[in-house]
Amino acid sequence: MTWQQRINTALEERRAAEAFRERRVVENGAGRFLTRDNQHFCNFSSNDYLALSQHPQVVRAWQQGAERYGVGSGGSGHVSGYTTAHQALEEELADWLGYPRALLFISGFAANQAVITALMGKDDRIVADRLSHASLLEAANLSPAQLRRFAHNDATPLHALLGKPCDGQQLVVTEGVFSMDGDSAPLNALHDTAQQHNAWLLVDDAHGIGVVGDEGRGSAYHQGVKPELLVVTFGKGFGVSGAAVLCSETVADYLLQFARHLIYSTSMPPAQAVALSAAMQVIRGDDGEARRQRLAQHIRHFRQGLSTLPFQSTDSLSAIQPVIVGDNGQALALAQRLREQGMWVTAIRPPTVPPGTARLRLTLTAAHETQDIDTLLEALHVARQ
Ligand SMILES: *Cc1c(COP(=O)(O)O)cnc(C)c1O
Repeated sequence: MTWQQRINTALEERRAAEAFRERRVVENGAGRFLTRDNQHFCNFSSNDYLALSQHPQVVRAWQQGAERYGVGSGGSGHVSGYTTAHQALEEELADWLGYPRALLFISGFAANQAVITALMGKDDRIVADRLSHASLLEAANLSPAQLRRFAHNDATPLHALLGKPCDGQQLVVTEGVFSMDGDSAPLNALHDTAQQHNAWLLVDDAHGIGVVGDEGRGSAYHQGVKPELLVVTFGKGFGVSGAAVLCSETVADYLLQFARHLIYSTSMPPAQAVALSAAMQVIRGDDGEARRQRLAQHIRHFRQGLSTLPFQSTDSLSAIQPVIVGDNGQALALAQRLREQGMWVTAIRPPTVPPGTARLRLTLTAAHETQDIDTLLEALHVARQ
């Protein structure tokens, strides 16, 4: 097979399975409305849960940061790219979340890759929740360690897997709030189980940080659990971009030696770090709390309405509300019918979700009005008929 034939075959297979992915160009995709081709859609696809991507204080902070530091960091943090803005943000994050150290990364994807590849060797074992995000499973697959997956949110099979002989160290991997199902991990049970086997726990709280619990400290803090490694990302509740790993002093020093994504990659722009500090201020304050309350109200209202419709969902109490359809084609058709009624929703298909569970992944945000939720429920009601 030639290169061209290989590529053509892969594309044809995707098309045949109705799993071909395409991007759609939008004017603006993060707010209450998604605008595209001069059309307005009520936006139920954005992860900007607290509507901070447009927050005047955060936007202004980024502008001021750029005026002070310029727009780029000029290098890796190990060379010349670790500024006072980065340092201040790391200290604020560590203080907020109750860890000795925080290390900034350019994205959650990079943070997960970096941490897993820096820590795991060939005698080690990663035991990950079956539904863990692609960035975690991909890193685990690429690492020389053995990868085992346990049934979603279930400490019993985790216990059994951790009990099998292993010459090296074991790392348990899960998410605070699951990105496609919206449900939360039982972190106490998972951490207790890990500790019984001297394993460490890594929690990726991409969808919980800023949104869950007191001061938005996220899933782990809310459940009273302190995983050895906590990954938080800033493209969702923070409304910006980037990520951080929270850990002990020695793990931070270790990652600074061995995490190649930190050493061989340009650090985030300092102005972005300034914007992130501003976003954290909002999240921790009254404004953030009001946004979380408003979001919680939308979630309650939506779930109440959805329970009267003939759709399958999950136990999600988060901003991520899946409407499970099953068949790829039907999920695409439902998304299309909702778009025709002015609502922007995305169909999520395998391999992002398990086969046979194609779905709409609806996200609610503090930018929505109650009437938006009502319109969505009405449209789902009509689209089903
Ligand atoms: C979005 C997401 C990531 C990736 O974070 P980015 O900062 O967007 O690269 C990692 N883990 C989970 C669970 C996510 O949902």
